Amino acid sequence: MTGGGRALSPAAEEYFDRLLTEAGRADSPSRRHHYVPRTYLRQWAYDERRIWALNTSTGIAKPLGISDVCVKENFHRVVGPDGPHNRVELMFGVVDSELRRVQSVLLRLSDPDDLSFDDYMALGVTMAVQRMRTLQQRRLHQQQAAWLEAQNPNDFQRLQDTPNNPHLVAGFHTETLFRAMWEAADVLTGRQLEIWDDSQGRIVTSDVPVVVPFRAGARPNLLAAPQIFWPISPDRVVVLSNEDRGEKAVFRRVTAAMAAALRGHVIQGREQMIFAGESQLRYLPVGKTLPRRAQARLRCSQWSPQGEYVPPPGCVVEWTDGYGATPDVQLCDQGWHRNAPGMLDYI
Ligand SMILES: [Zn+2]
Repeated sequence: MTGGGRALSPAAEEYFDRLLTEAGRADSPSRRHHYVPRTYLRQWAYDERRIWALNTSTGIAKPLGISDVCVKENFHRVVGPDGPHNRVELMFGVVDSELRRVQSVLLRLSDPDDLSFDDYMALGVTMAVQRMRTLQQRRLHQQQAAWLEAQNPNDFQRLQDTPNNPHLVAGFHTETLFRAMWEAADVLTGRQLEIWDDSQGRIVTSDVPVVVPFRAGARPNLLAAPQIFWPISPDRVVVLSNEDRGEKAVFRRVTAAMAAALRGHVIQGREQMIFAGESQLRYLPVGKTLPRRAQARLRCSQWSPQGEYVPPPGCVVEWTDGYGATPDVQLCDQGWHRNAPGMLDYI
């Protein structure tokens, strides 16, 4: 819809201008970067400040301050020509204020006609950015780099901070995100918007708030995914579906079965933490550890990403995310590929 950011509506243009203005400003003193905005999580808070957080690697659920979850020192700190700076965090400040606006518009929405074209655009950008701006995405990038390093150590290196380059991972992730953002937003805005309401308040979220559910153990790409979920409160989830009904927004009521399925997707999609209101804990796997989560999944293919046939002995390595305890690598035996045990450093 934006042609990868080249043809923007006036509001989207203004949004991008604001990003650039922020980027040109002086450095920010802030070092604690929230990769899931606090305002987003506040919908699940029980006293404005705290939410229940289930750590899926320990099985322990406890209340945590919203300021203390999904936060990482220097998450977006990148090294520019003048040395390390936090201007990208200022740009993310604009992204966050747009997220806050879009979330509140969608929380209030009851008549599809109240949704403007620009709201819809902003929703696409918001979901695109939030989908990529996670520790999970960063870890998957690291698995990919470890695989590439094993194939060709002359051209590729681990994606790992070093004493000389302490912001390498943040820089790579941030740059990748901004490069992919508009295209992802275009794909998302091409989908049917659905608003699902749950009068029982059974909707939970995680440290990966935009959920592309696994199908048969693999995460489909944004075009192929039947549904992409963004929970915005315990009672409401935004769904981008690939079932075009030709309507601005379709409202649906969440049944117990839909709530359970959605919860399953959120749990499988998380990196480590599930966030919930107190009354929702009974739906969650408290006391269990969950060893499986998103991991790199590699397969050989005779087709290029553009759909062109690649005749043998050539092969194209297809990357997706799988759901498992370790990366899932099954490649052809033509002798092109080497084992990459280094991937296991990032599971
Ligand atoms: Zn192969």
